[in-house]
Amino acid sequence: MTTSSLAPAHRGRRAKIIATLGPASRDPQTIADLYEAGADVFRLNFSHGTHADHAASVAAIRALEQETGRPITILMDLQGPKLRVGTFQGGSVVLQPGANFRLDLNPEIGSVERACLPHPEIFAALRPGASLLINDGHLRLRVKTCGKDFAETEVIVAGVISDRKGVNVPDVTLPIPALTPKDKADLDFGLSQGVDWVGLSFVQRPEDVAAVREMVQGRAGILSKLEKPSALDHLDAIVELSDSIMVARGDLGVEMPLEQVPVLQKRIVRACRKRGKPVVVATQMLESMIKSPVPTRAEVSDVATAIYDGVDAVMLSAETAAGSFPVRAVSTMHRIIGHVESDEHYLDLMQAGHNETEHSSPAAITAAAGQIAHTLKAAAIVTFTSSGSTTLRAAQERPDVPILCVTPSLNAGRRLGLVWGVHALVGDFIDSVDDIGDVAVEGARRCGIGKEGQALVITAGMPFGKVGSTNMVRVVWIGGETKTS
Ligand code: PEP
Repeated sequence: MTTSSLAPAHRGRRAKIIATLGPASRDPQTIADLYEAGADVFRLNFSHGTHADHAASVAAIRALEQETGRPITILMDLQGPKLRVGTFQGGSVVLQPGANFRLDLNPEIGSVERACLPHPEIFAALRPGASLLINDGHLRLRVKTCGKDFAETEVIVAGVISDRKGVNVPDVTLPIPALTPKDKADLDFGLSQGVDWVGLSFVQRPEDVAAVREMVQGRAGILSKLEKPSALDHLDAIVELSDSIMVARGDLGVEMPLEQVPVLQKRIVRACRKRGKPVVVATQMLESMIKSPVPTRAEVSDVATAIYDGVDAVMLSAETAAGSFPVRAVSTMHRIIGHVESDEHYLDLMQAGHNETEHSSPAAITAAAGQIAHTLKAAAIVTFTSSGSTTLRAAQERPDVPILCVTPSLNAGRRLGLVWGVHALVGDFIDSVDDIGDVAVEGARRCGIGKEGQALVITAGMPFGKVGSTNMVRVVWIGGETKTS
């Protein structure tokens, strides 16, 4: 995709939309409609679907990319160590409050007295007093005694327990590797398909991220999903080691008391923005749109709150994967974001959330570019980048103008699709540093950014291709003299 004749038009919004694909949306026409409605990133959820399903989605997205001339981002989301109980007589049983209930490794069918929990690693880590949450926390058991292959529990919150329901163990850090054998096979497959981001579920400790980074070897960005209390105990270290973070509110709201979720969301977003790591808020954002063509007022407010907090992206899960109104869910989100971003206070809030500039040349240059763009009411900041690092830095500043990223690297352009304010243009446009002014102007025109007479503020790292070398800022004018002398 070097010089597509199609203009990859700027969407006119900063925060990005992630749409999860599934049975309701993975056909090529719906993928194209979701993109048209505003989806910037497509999420392939490896908790569902076959490799053939995901390969077909990747092929449809890459074909759309060719057609639109714009890099499109793909996030593969690994299932992670999802723990489940075994099966029951008749498919389900009802547990009474205060009853004793045993969990063990016996594969026989379960009853009101016991069930199989086929995970020896849980028994190895359990302690008396620990909680086991079943079926998204609808049922709660407390461990009374336990051994290496059983736990005797008391039913604290009673209800129905049915075949293969999920189990969360919030109080303990489980001695399990970051990736299950299924995750490893899925990861190899996803990387062979050229996904841009890999989502890691149930990250517990910084070492989990480091282990996966070893396997990924730079072929994709690593997005850590924060959903375990143990991960929050190591928040800064996990943010530092990850390329981006997701506030995975579904499981987070099971593992932690629900009232803590909004506070944790803000804490995680702050930690990410401080370090310039893209951050995504996910789950139940427009949940009612799974069945209804309009969201609730509370859902609209929830999306707006995330946008006012300056998140890089907001995510749709079942709304687009399995809902009745997938395209409408995306266009609704697009409208909410657009409206919040046009609030006169929005950009002030972005600046208020700004951290002290780091004491380095790239940070100082990038901060200056934001200031110059503001003073000149520029049309855009134009970042020339090979790795994407110059552009990420620009986004961290949350400038009040769009960021046009010009890069020869299709991988960098795709990965930056997740990042606040960035619109990427991919191609081999630069022969010499003298070209950057002309290329910036031509790029802005092609993407529908700015008008004649407006300034563009360029940042780049010289020599090109050296990561983290942002050392140059320059102003050019659309329609003016742009070549360096
Ligand atoms: C979540 O728990 O919020 C989440 C995004 O993870 P998943 O939906 O993949 O379980």
